[in-house]
Amino acid sequence: MECLIEVRYRIGQSNRTKAYKSEIRARKGIWKWLKKNELEPDINASYFSPETGHHSYQSHEQLTDCEPKPVNNFYLSQAWRSLRHQILTSRPKVCAICGRSPEIHGVAVEVDHILPRSKYPELALEPNNLQILCYDCNRGKRDKIVPQT
Ligand SMILES: [Zn+2]
Repeated sequence: MECLIEVRYRIGQSNRTKAYKSEIRARKGIWKWLKKNELEPDINASYFSPETGHHSYQSHEQLTDCEPKPVNNFYLSQAWRSLRHQILTSRPKVCAICGRSPEIHGVAVEVDHILPRSKYPELALEPNNLQILCYDCNRGKRDKIVPQT
């Protein structure tokens, strides 16, 4: 069953409504709207849910559970990009697992963390923890690849 949640957005005297497919989507929508309009002096977002009743908010800080998670931007960081470039220009471009290279086998290569960044964040920028892998090996498809010479 689809339960539409209709949110009423009000800035001063002006109203508009927007329907969401679920309460959690509605709450995330409200968070974004309140954040975007946080400098407005007279602002309100409200909705009624058959399950949880009436809700009314004036600040996104009332909805901290709906705050979007910060984007993990490690791979966009200058530190990573320059280290990655350094690895790719200083080492042979050969996959550490299957031995294929862009020049000979036409594979794309990537710089991979040997010990995963999720478990060893302190080694994220350690050159000795980095290796060059081809796209397939980096995504765990290595079993299907017959090593080439
Ligand atoms: Zn490979």
